[in-house]
Amino acid sequence: MEKELLRKNLDDVIYKIEKARLSVSGHHIVQLVAVGKYTTVQNIETLYSLGQRAFGENHVQQLESRSKELEDLPIEWHMIGTLQKNKINKLLDIKPSLFQALDNLDLAKELEAKLANKQKTLSCLLQVNSAREDTKSGFSPEVAIETYLQILSECPHIKLEGIMSIGAHSNDVKQIQNSFETTYKIYEKLQKNGANICSMGMSGDFELAIKCGSNLVRVGSSLFENNLNS
Ligand SMILES: *Cc1c(COP(=O)(O)O)cnc(C)c1O
Repeated sequence: MEKELLRKNLDDVIYKIEKARLSVSGHHIVQLVAVGKYTTVQNIETLYSLGQRAFGENHVQQLESRSKELEDLPIEWHMIGTLQKNKINKLLDIKPSLFQALDNLDLAKELEAKLANKQKTLSCLLQVNSAREDTKSGFSPEVAIETYLQILSECPHIKLEGIMSIGAHSNDVKQIQNSFETTYKIYEKLQKNGANICSMGMSGDFELAIKCGSNLVRVGSSLFENNLNS
């Protein structure tokens, strides 16, 4: 992709984030994580040269190969997709800044055991299935808080930093907003337990997510779409 096109896409996304966050408050800071799953490592490198520092991948293999290829750059890598238990060691070797998709207790327990063994810690977000969709992973909103507290107390090597959720898969804005509001309410209650990241919002809905309180958006297609007329 042309550098100028990537610059335009990045500018557009940043402008929209700015507008949305300022409508919440000038003090509301939002982090942009660029999701590379639809693009090439070259485009990630170009986006880095344009100033973007945080990148996310949803497959461990992809995260591994890209973080290796770009190891000379001080990129902040996020693992945003479901993690199979047999990939835990691989993920720990990559040492991502944040694992955003802690979505079941078995995984948490095995992750804790491996971390304790290696005397390491890992920053994680609890994934909540606020839209209650079978196709999405994550804890149901009803058990999210107690599960978060349970992991906090039983898994000292897992550094829970907050929660992550994917907005409802719907054309009905109200329904998407409901799912974001559900996530935000859970986040709000967990702030006194140290939660400081509310990760929600993707290309199609990040402005709405920010207005509902998101402070981390994961944006892929809007950054890497190859359409001069958009
Ligand atoms: C792919 C992906 C994104 C980015 O999606 P876009 O709609 O392309 O912005 C965000 N979060 C997760 C978990 C993803 O898998």
